[in-house]
Amino acid sequence: MNLSSGRDYLAIPGPSVSPERVLNAMHTSAPNIYEGKLVDVVAGMIPDLKAVARTKGAVAIYIANGHGAWEAAAMNVLAPGDTALVLATGRFAALWGTICNRMGIETEVIDFGRKAALDPERVEEALRADTNHRIKAVLTVQTDTATGVLNDIAGLRAAMDRAGHPALLMVDCIASLACDRFEMDDWGVDVMVAASQKGLMTPPGLGFVFFNERAKARQNNGVSYYWDWRPRVAPEGFYQYFGGTAPTHHLLGLRAALDLIAEEGGVEAVWHRHDLLARTAWAAFETWGQGGPMEINVADPKRRSRAVTALALGADNGTRLRRWVETNGGLTLGIGLGMSAPDDPKGDGFFRLGHMGHVNAHMILGALGVIEAGLRALDIPHGNGALGAAADVIARG
Ligand SMILES: *Cc1c(COP(=O)(O)O)cnc(C)c1O
Repeated sequence: MNLSSGRDYLAIPGPSVSPERVLNAMHTSAPNIYEGKLVDVVAGMIPDLKAVARTKGAVAIYIANGHGAWEAAAMNVLAPGDTALVLATGRFAALWGTICNRMGIETEVIDFGRKAALDPERVEEALRADTNHRIKAVLTVQTDTATGVLNDIAGLRAAMDRAGHPALLMVDCIASLACDRFEMDDWGVDVMVAASQKGLMTPPGLGFVFFNERAKARQNNGVSYYWDWRPRVAPEGFYQYFGGTAPTHHLLGLRAALDLIAEEGGVEAVWHRHDLLARTAWAAFETWGQGGPMEINVADPKRRSRAVTALALGADNGTRLRRWVETNGGLTLGIGLGMSAPDDPKGDGFFRLGHMGHVNAHMILGALGVIEAGLRALDIPHGNGALGAAADVIARG
């Protein structure tokens, strides 16, 4: 039996599904980079990007993935010999710290494990202990894409303020932007990094660094030519003269994606959709878990991301399920990234469902239906009534 012919659903947590509108916008011959449509597109895109990030600060656009944006953000405000406090809740903040280390930036890491969000009180303690303000920045993620943890960024800022510490707050929203609620200015985030291929629904290749006046005042003049954010905040200057050839087709695709967000009712409507669809998936996962080994990695729903859910399924069931739903249902689930345990070095007992970006009710219900078929086909024990529980969440709105 093979029921995978038809439209695939790539439900890994990035790259996410690109809408036809985005792909079609990119399917064009090269536009002039000096005048005309592309110049207008870039100028109009800056306010729209800031609206999605909820900031009046600046945004620099790079031809880079998230790794590039990480490096850009760090290099503009941190110099070799500086210290950054890294708050790890899975895989990604720690990796950002490693990238900093390679640039000569020292890191102090607080590891909150793989099932819990960061604890603002522990951060406050660490900052209070840093009496001579050696720590120049606090680095963390809003959503950790490996664990599905959603960190409390407003709470983190409050802890930094209570400690009276001047470090910059730098947040990776690569997985969470336009999925999980994020208020850059209201929450006092100084630097935020994002990329095109997750909530922004555009193929990988654009990296974004948003920054406020406090971050601007900490400019590292030793920043490299390419990563320097200063020329990039003036779009007409950057695209024509300072940054090399513009990422023409990606910009056209992103324009279409930002239009889709606006047509849906703006980023708040998009957050609301993600919240509902995430809760739909959790209702099914929790019901299956009542009669078998399935377990959402993060127990507290308030600390779960609305962009991705990581799950334990025991033994090698994660990998078996992924293989089954892909072969038989055209559904590709995410691997158990970095979730290995001593008895499961490759993370075969885990999987992830990406529910970020261009995702709607029938895609999530369809994915859950195929997962249910997989659990039955593979004789993985599971509770009954999961699909009804999921449909109920959507029915109630
Ligand atoms: C995907 C992701 C990254 C890495 O982005 P790349 O574009 O793959 O370099 C970093 N942080 C988080 C939270 C992510 O989800």
